[in-house]
Amino acid sequence: MGGVMRADYLVVGAGAAAMAFVDSLIDHADVKVVMVDRRFAAGGHWLDAYPFVRLHQASAFYGVTSTMLGGGRLQVTGPENGLHERATAAEVTAYYQHVLDRMTTSGKVAFYPNCE
Ligand SMILES: Cc1cc2nc3c(=O)[nH]c(=O)nc-3n(C[C@H](O)[C@H](O)[C@H](O)COP(=O)(O)OP(=O)(O)OC[C@H]3O[C@@H](n4cnc5c(N)ncnc54)[C@H](O)[C@@H]3O)c2cc1C
Repeated sequence: MGGVMRADYLVVGAGAAAMAFVDSLIDHADVKVVMVDRRFAAGGHWLDAYPFVRLHQASAFYGVTSTMLGGGRLQVTGPENGLHERATAAEVTAYYQHVLDRMTTSGKVAFYPNCE
């Protein structure tokens, strides 16, 4: 990365914690944010997770404030029949990509992957 970047906030990492912070920050303040992550995308360790892993908790209570993860549905089969859906790793990473796309198109956030 060359040149000079100007921002109000530099956020190192684009995992769940950073995404929640930036999501709330730009919702409440007119600021410019630069996010960097050594990984290739947003989502943190979920990008490296085995395909069979899922959230431990209901999807609806995970992620960033502005955007619900999942549809608030109940599971209809299996041992968790009747319980809230729990997103897979693929669903979590797709969700964070969607959230990041919204952040960057707002013009308030610039994201630099593969950067530390
Ligand atoms: C199978 C599984 C299920 C889980 N289920 C739940 C759940 O249901 N509910 C829950 O709350 N938690 C759950 N967790 C815990 C999970 O770790 C957190 O939800 C969350 O994903 C952690 O996010 P984070 O931002 O703290 O860290 P990370 O995901 O590790 O993200 C940090 C990011 O910062 C980047 N980074 C760090 N240092 C630098 C640097 N110097 N330069 C550039 N980039 C840097 C890393 O590359 C990484 O992408 C689960 C974990 C697992 C493994």
